[in-house]
Amino acid sequence: MLLRHTPETITDRSALTINPAKTCQPVGAMYAALGIHNCLPHSHGSQGCCAYHRSALTRHYKDPIMATTSSFTEGASVFGGQANLVESINNIFTIYSPDIIAVNTTCLSEVIGDDLPQIINKARADGKIPPGKTVIHANTPSFKGSHVTGFANMTSAMVQYLSERSGKKIPQINIIPGYVEPSDMAEMKRISLEMGIKSVLFPDTSGVVNSPLDGKFHMYPKGGATMEAIKSAGDSTFTLALGRTASLPAAKLLDTKCKVPFECLDLPIGLSATDTFVDCLRKTAGVSVPESLMVERGQVVDVLTDMHQYFFGKKVALIGDPDHLVSLAQFLTDMDMEVLYVVTGTPAGPKFVRRIRELTGEKTIVKEGLGVDMFQFHQLIKNAKPDLLFGNTYVKHIARDEDIPLIRMGFPIYDRVGHQYFPITGYRGALRLLEKILEAILDRQDRDAPEESFELVM
Ligand code: SF4
Repeated sequence: MLLRHTPETITDRSALTINPAKTCQPVGAMYAALGIHNCLPHSHGSQGCCAYHRSALTRHYKDPIMATTSSFTEGASVFGGQANLVESINNIFTIYSPDIIAVNTTCLSEVIGDDLPQIINKARADGKIPPGKTVIHANTPSFKGSHVTGFANMTSAMVQYLSERSGKKIPQINIIPGYVEPSDMAEMKRISLEMGIKSVLFPDTSGVVNSPLDGKFHMYPKGGATMEAIKSAGDSTFTLALGRTASLPAAKLLDTKCKVPFECLDLPIGLSATDTFVDCLRKTAGVSVPESLMVERGQVVDVLTDMHQYFFGKKVALIGDPDHLVSLAQFLTDMDMEVLYVVTGTPAGPKFVRRIRELTGEKTIVKEGLGVDMFQFHQLIKNAKPDLLFGNTYVKHIARDEDIPLIRMGFPIYDRVGHQYFPITGYRGALRLLEKILEAILDRQDRDAPEESFELVM
């Protein structure tokens, strides 16, 4: 009963956040950077920040996450971090030999106002960046955004630094996958491959943060989008950006810089959102949907139909990243569940609030932005108890206190595995989500059933 003192009465708070519903920008930037092949992420700030960013990712993926730091001490904090970063770039290329370093700023380097493009230019002028090697950067002040914003900023940096327009179009489609698991990125690639479409997916953390254990240490695992692929994204015929918050900025920038038209869709979580994704791929590439995908879709519809009575009327509360929440809210509403609360600590704006209400109805209470926290989510739950919660590992205390089943999804998930390997996107992902939801509902029913209603067939 860790949070038993959370009061039911909600009062206005403006200067205090309790248990923020987000993590810091560099965590997302680092995750995106890992989605470039042979890339070493670098955190420009103190060792403490970098230790946190790495540990958040390591604990979520259960894989060692490689990243370096500018190791600010008092001197850098007062006089600026230029000397530290130039020295770091020299050390990193000399010792670890990545193809590319992706630098993210931290709160501290943002507050002291380090000019990253100028410092990178200085490193180049000083001969610290070997020929053929690259350094990119993203500004990621955590007091302005969340891990999702950091992911979006680093993905935009990939476009800014790497994508080029040669003037000759290549018959391929860019997919910007959003802040999803490596398993989801692999699923998006599989779906486009199944449809016979050549795609460039970036960033691509599949095969990087879920790489197999083979007894050897790999500083740079096999996966990740190559720099050549990201460069060629400027010559693609079209871009599909999945998720407004995480993917739209990079797609817009690619259009401005290289004239690649784009469409921004919801993350393909659930039946309708996956249908839209597949249909958009079909139309854009001028192909037809193969029988194999139709079978997968039919299986989702089959489970939905068979088990609808268990979903119908269940009240749910969701907390997490905005792009996940939009698609999840739609999926749950399609299943005739009632979405009571949708909460995110990521600044997602009024468009997000409108979109959720369009999908779930005006009664849903939607909270977004930096001041929004888990404390408030808990208070809402105390006011009208839902049957199910959706959120990350940090929601487990609320779930335990209120005795409500929790479906873990989003970031971070420290206390379960599987998210790295099994997607929640696409039709296969929809099946997995359905299974997770049904397990929670039916386990609960079994647990609470009196002896005479304890059924074998439910
Ligand atoms: S100081 Fe800022 S960048 Fe560093 S860990 Fe905290 S929130 Fe993240």
